[in-house]
Amino acid sequence: NCSLASPMEPAKDKLIGGLLSPGFDEPSCLSRYQSAQFWKSSNHTPSPYLLQKLRSYEALHKRCGPHTDLYNKSIDQLRSNRSTGPLECNYVVWLQSGGLGNRLISLISTFLYAILNNRVLLLSVPDDLHDMFCEPFPGTSWALPSDFPIKKLETQDFYGRSPQSYGNLLKNKVISNGMDATHASLPAYLYLHLTHDADDSDKMFYCEDAQPLFRSFPWLFLRSNQYFTPSLFLMSQYNDELQKLFPEKETVFHHLSRYLLHPANSVWGYVTRYYEAYLANAKERVGIQVRIFPNAPVKFELMLDQVINCTLKEKILPDIKVEVAANLTTTGGGVKPKAVLVTSLQTGYFEKLRNMYYEHSSITGDAIGVYQPSHEERQRTENQNHNTKALAEMYLLSFSDVLVTSAFSTFGYVAQGLGGLRPWIVLRPDNQNPPCRQALSMEPCFHFAPAYDCKAGRNIDKGTVVPHVKHCEDLDFHWGLKLF
Ligand code: GDP
Repeated sequence: NCSLASPMEPAKDKLIGGLLSPGFDEPSCLSRYQSAQFWKSSNHTPSPYLLQKLRSYEALHKRCGPHTDLYNKSIDQLRSNRSTGPLECNYVVWLQSGGLGNRLISLISTFLYAILNNRVLLLSVPDDLHDMFCEPFPGTSWALPSDFPIKKLETQDFYGRSPQSYGNLLKNKVISNGMDATHASLPAYLYLHLTHDADDSDKMFYCEDAQPLFRSFPWLFLRSNQYFTPSLFLMSQYNDELQKLFPEKETVFHHLSRYLLHPANSVWGYVTRYYEAYLANAKERVGIQVRIFPNAPVKFELMLDQVINCTLKEKILPDIKVEVAANLTTTGGGVKPKAVLVTSLQTGYFEKLRNMYYEHSSITGDAIGVYQPSHEERQRTENQNHNTKALAEMYLLSFSDVLVTSAFSTFGYVAQGLGGLRPWIVLRPDNQNPPCRQALSMEPCFHFAPAYDCKAGRNIDKGTVVPHVKHCEDLDFHWGLKLF
């Protein structure tokens, strides 16, 4: 179906260079086949090794997916109340935490962890994300089935204080990192608490020495709101594999998100309707994402200045002529406008920008159309319709030619990664009103990365250990890490 393609774009490789498996039925998930025609051409191709790995992962998932014989065997082990070493099918179950952006960056990290450890990724899908994504693996499902024996995944048993958490089992000496199933009676599963508030014991997860222990558990439950991928690149046992999978380090999220995150048809309708109505006809698309964090409020005028200063100084948008009607120049029609897509919970930034180009001509003579799909006023992650708009807007932003994002926002990270874009990052205004800066890599930032070095037994600067893991450009605290 080519009717959704922008008339400017030639038909693009539907399976994204072999990233996507051909084993699906197209109408059941249109976004899988249509997204590529909206994205700016990417000069990042997935490595043949990654493609091979994804195909073998798909085979593993099909063999071990819900209600297969091997899955049933692993369930029997779970019911037996103890772990006795790895089985033929081992799992990591993703548990949600935070807004949609936080959830998606942790999901991608968990998938990478699954691939590296030959585990099957299953999702405990929250009600408010129900049916929002297509199944990514052919002939099976990634959703934890409703008859899964553990029902209390969203209770205190699967949060930081749970006695069953890896951190607490370590603290209470029920397990230790050198231990394995041959000389110990291990619990039936392990809960990994890896959200921003993980304590020092939970964070022992990131020690290389801890990883062999996890292999003794067929069932891991992992809750995170972080992009913990950079820490996997700091564990030497994964080095060779990661190097082969991602010779270009900054493409981890880019490839894995395009592989995994396909909006379901109901969400895709929002994306394509909006694109066709407001963005398709533009000669250039600029995305501007304005995120104000409720726990760190910023004055509207200050943030507006930060956004406008960035777009004008970096020539992302043209300046305006000051005299209102004097020297009126028209192009006489036929010239395509530039489209600016603003996303924000508030409507003020969009209104100011729109009025600016309505009330004044641009110095380049360009017509500038400014659009905002929704203004939800506040975050309501428990509401599916709200999340649908959030996902649609992440995708719409990812279709930009140039992207401007807000520092620290995982919502922006998803858009930049999907789009393969290095965004201009608008920093929080302070006394100095720092100018925006362009990201040096399109990867998300691991905000609360552990500084503890397990070998040294003390905190170190993790941004200087290997050349491709450095501190993030968008944080004013220095422990965040990202891949370059
Ligand atoms: P972060 O808090 O910026 O890191 O991003 P998250 O996505 O984790 O959480 C913010 C949530 O607020 C989003 O998931 C949306 O539910 C909502 N939200 C924030 N900004 C926008 C926006 O520009 N558009 C829409 N539709 N929702 C937004």
